[in-house]
Amino acid sequence: METKTIEVTASKRIALVAHDHKKPDLLAWCQKHLERLRDHQFYATGTTGHLIERETSLAVTKLISGPLGGDQQIGAMITEHQIDILIFFWDPLAAQPHDPDVKALLRLAAVWNIPVACSQSTADLLVTSPLFSSTYEREAPDYETYLAGRT
Ligand code: PGA
Repeated sequence: METKTIEVTASKRIALVAHDHKKPDLLAWCQKHLERLRDHQFYATGTTGHLIERETSLAVTKLISGPLGGDQQIGAMITEHQIDILIFFWDPLAAQPHDPDVKALLRLAAVWNIPVACSQSTADLLVTSPLFSSTYEREAPDYETYLAGRT
């Protein structure tokens, strides 16, 4: 598929999702990097968002809880270019009732070439990248050209 360049601003729109056993890891990551995170905007699945907002000074736009559709809401936002980065601490040691939604979210992040961190170490590297707080050119599917080729 042909791609086009998308200008990502210095202030990023970051989606935060953590499964229950991984919520402490995500909270610790947010607290560790609080100063670096302050200049960005946050969206999260319901329970994750409430936790981050309660335990840190970050403002979070809270969507529906993940198992009730929050993962799909974030996937839709990625498709509509409303999310620049996904921090998704999914639990590899516990079955999830919404496993299809988890896979779908990771798939859409790959389709739209969104940076994804699924562990603290990857998230550490991401947040300390110079690109985290500067503008960035991201390649993404060129839907208009795709559509023109289908008609
Ligand atoms: P939660 O959802 O933040 O509402 O717990 C996370 C998830 O399981 O996707």
